[in-house]
Amino acid sequence: MPNSASSVVAIDGPSASGKSTVSRRVAAELDWCYVDSGALYRGLTWKALREGVDTSRPEAVAALIPRLAWEFAEAQRALRFTIDGEDPGPQLRSEPVREAVSDVAAVPEVRAFIVAELRRLTAFGPLVMEGRDIGSVVFPATPLKFYLDADPLERARRRAQELAQAEGHSDVGRVFDSLARRDRKDAGRKTAPLQIPLGAQVINSTALSIEQVVARIVAAVRGAAAPT
Ligand code: C5P
Repeated sequence: MPNSASSVVAIDGPSASGKSTVSRRVAAELDWCYVDSGALYRGLTWKALREGVDTSRPEAVAALIPRLAWEFAEAQRALRFTIDGEDPGPQLRSEPVREAVSDVAAVPEVRAFIVAELRRLTAFGPLVMEGRDIGSVVFPATPLKFYLDADPLERARRRAQELAQAEGHSDVGRVFDSLARRDRKDAGRKTAPLQIPLGAQVINSTALSIEQVVARIVAAVRGAAAPT
């Protein structure tokens, strides 16, 4: 199995495609470090909202970047971070962050900054990184690229179930609309739009269990290193 410091499994796909659960489990099976790249975009959005920055103004968001101190650490084989000494924790998943993150993630200066930070994380050893542009922009040279997808209604159902567990209530119709809005913004933005990376193995998980998806990816990673 590839196991150099620079090995990266890139798992991309739209919101609620099952990437997070699958990526965590793939990382656990391989004993590699799990990185949720979306958490960095959410972290910056959380901080911007806290600082009263108008997230619809790209120049205001860009001006915030150099003022922030990020620290990264690994805990139980997953990447954690603080911004100005604070761990945003569950607030990363709050509604205001959810609604503003795509605007923040569309700012070119934000992408340049976060992409550079993500590349540095190979210092933590081999990584399983999930996101939207990991195989296309952040680590285009990795041979271990996957693109997870699922039908939009199935994605809304899965996300609504997660929200109901976290917040006690949810509405599939509203979740569907919110995901559709986010998909449109993520796929339509000028810088690093959501796309299937060149050479990625596409997995549609609508009719697959999490175990089946994980097994497929782990087998592909192990197979990639098998002697031919
Ligand atoms: O994956 P998650 O839903 O947490 O990502 C939140 C948002 O961050 C996405 O809607 C997208 O706008 C942005 N994102 C991105 N590139 C990534 C990961 C996330 O633009 N690699």
